[in-house]
Amino acid sequence: MGKDECIFCKIINKQIPSDIVYEDDKVIGFKDISPEAPVHIVIIPKQHISDLNCLREDESEIIGHIFIVAKKITRSLGIAENGYRIVNNCGEQGGQTVDHLHFHLLGGRMLKWPPG
Ligand code: AMP
Ligand code: ZN
Repeated sequence: MGKDECIFCKIINKQIPSDIVYEDDKVIGFKDISPEAPVHIVIIPKQHISDLNCLREDESEIIGHIFIVAKKITRSLGIAENGYRIVNNCGEQGGQTVDHLHFHLLGGRMLKWPPG
């Protein structure tokens, strides 16, 4: 799938609506449409990168930034102290359904381990 048809690029470009909780020039965080926890945020780079396999070494800075953003969101949504989980699903067996690199931020309830 090219980035023109990418649903997350459409969210970035405001072509489809989303509930945005964080945005800067590099990253956007929005509520997952099908939440698996009381807090379920999807954090993505604005640059279209299909998955972790496609991430180039010279793009690696964005990952650190995403984790700093995730930390800020946990504070703003009040889950920093109780704890949370950040997940990246990569490829078919990893459970990836949207081909734009993203990290799930889950919290607000006791999470089980390991995930299914
Ligand atoms: P993954 O299965 O790891 O690729 O995660 C994709 C996530 O994107 C799923 O949790 C979906 O519920 C979520 N999702 C898909 N479309 C939208 C949308 N339009 N707005 C918000 N979240 C979405
Ligand atoms: Zn995209």
